[in-house]
Amino acid sequence: MSLLVVGSLALDTIETPFGKAQETLGGSAVYISTAASYFAPQVRLVGVVGGDFPEKAMSFLGERNIDLEGLQRIESGKTFRWSGKYHYDLNMRDTLFTKLNVFEKFDPKIPEAYRKSKYVCLGNIDPVLQRKVLDQIEKPKLVVGDTMNFWIEGKHDELMKTMKHFDVLIINDSEARLLTQEPNLIRAGKKIIGMGPKILIIKKGEHGAILLTENTIFSAPAYPMENINDPTGAGDSFAGGFIGWLEKSDDISDENLKKAVIYGSAMASFCVEKFGVDGLNDLTHLKIQDRFRSFRDLSKF
Ligand code: AMP
Repeated sequence: MSLLVVGSLALDTIETPFGKAQETLGGSAVYISTAASYFAPQVRLVGVVGGDFPEKAMSFLGERNIDLEGLQRIESGKTFRWSGKYHYDLNMRDTLFTKLNVFEKFDPKIPEAYRKSKYVCLGNIDPVLQRKVLDQIEKPKLVVGDTMNFWIEGKHDELMKTMKHFDVLIINDSEARLLTQEPNLIRAGKKIIGMGPKILIIKKGEHGAILLTENTIFSAPAYPMENINDPTGAGDSFAGGFIGWLEKSDDISDENLKKAVIYGSAMASFCVEKFGVDGLNDLTHLKIQDRFRSFRDLSKF
């Protein structure tokens, strides 16, 4: 099997009530592929960085055995930068700046060797680019897509077209309401399933996640965490754990989708414990399995 991940690679500057990080490795594709690498034997990453992308960041991805053939490096340009500041309520985040830099002209080119990838995860990028990626892939088995309010409001029609090609859409609760103009999440979910993706995951921040398919509604619990330091990348880590597990097990039955949601939740819970990608560093299969079991125990009665 094979997993292709497309999205942003970034240098993030983050401030939370518990600390700061300056120009730390981030971006949707980084979080997705790092989380997925604990499941899928080789993750293929497509994205763009500038000449200033640190060697340390390259080694971090290399050490996770992430295939970087599809990573474009524009020596004369600067890497995408994003900065966010969190409030005491960590669900509240202000974006301080977004400097697209080389990402502004990103034209995803899928290397020949990646075109037969069976599992595809499209991080939160312009829906037009997401479609451009899919046009270059031959018969994927499962396409998972992410999006955000920026595209829901700014490129609504393009997003509607792209969503018809998604098998799974992962979004958060406020985005689901925005997309459907429907305050009730279950009704919103059913409307989204009518828009294309047959499988929908609605993330509810620290309150868990809901999985909806045509036949199932599954509610995953939130892990009761005492030390959340930085929520950046939680959603992308969820997506990475989710698709990583599906790729490894190569089973997209409703029962296995529920397990994938729990692996996604487990990876998100590791991510938020530390700043940037540090929470995803040095995990072991044993630690992941232990957290999976803790999630299971939370809702067993
Ligand atoms: P999340 O916390 O899941 O929303 O993801 C945060 C990551 O998304 C950060 O590492 C950012 O670098 C990246 N990011 C923020 N804004 C954008 C954007 N407009 N396009 C692509 N990636 C972004």
